[in-house]
Amino acid sequence: MWERTVESLSSEGLIRSDAVRRAFLKYPRYLFVEKRHQKYAHLDEPLPIPAGQTVSAPHMVAIMLELADLKPGMNVLEIGTGSGWNAALISELVGTDVYTIERIPELVEFARQNLERAGVKNVHVFLGDGTLGFPPKAPYDRIIVTAGAPEVPKPLLEQLKPGGRLIIPVGSHHLWQELYVVEKTDDGRIRKRRWGSVVFVPLIGAHGWRG
Ligand code: SAM
Repeated sequence: MWERTVESLSSEGLIRSDAVRRAFLKYPRYLFVEKRHQKYAHLDEPLPIPAGQTVSAPHMVAIMLELADLKPGMNVLEIGTGSGWNAALISELVGTDVYTIERIPELVEFARQNLERAGVKNVHVFLGDGTLGFPPKAPYDRIIVTAGAPEVPKPLLEQLKPGGRLIIPVGSHHLWQELYVVEKTDDGRIRKRRWGSVVFVPLIGAHGWRG
């Protein structure tokens, strides 16, 4: 059933690259949800994970990964680990260490267990406020934020390499956003492009929504 989901995302043009397709096939979403939700993991909709959060719908994850245009060896930071699924896909695409930050301790544990069970070794999950970025491993080629922010957090712009790219949902309402592709040019200027409307749980933190 998962293979059928991947095929339909490909035929709809949402999965465009072989690399993203292979990553989706290697790490099916059912490996990253609780047992009682596994039978729904092939459906193209968000699913509940512990602590009232969600793992995004497969089409949304595909769109963000294609926009990120990840290449082997890139240094990537993910904000909002959740289940660990997106981090596993990122790690397959870059083939090197990936750093991901989650603010809810229960989900740090959940993601670590899922990643271990799926055999993912190069994802490092940290507890913290991802709106502050993760200075120890900065600067990053790519930063992918999987929760909705009121504005682009400044620390994330600072921790982006020149030529780097940040994918982030931004919106004035905490449950409805526009997905932005933010690029830092080689001479350090910031360029923003809007992809379209999306719905994410809120990014809560010092440079996000108040908890
Ligand atoms: N990428 C996840 C996955 O593959 O399962 C889905 C992420 S879920 C839509 C958003 C996550 O962002 C939630 O787990 C939430 O707790 C987390 N989050 C919200 N604000 C955060 C912050 N300031 N720092 C880190 N994580 C945050």
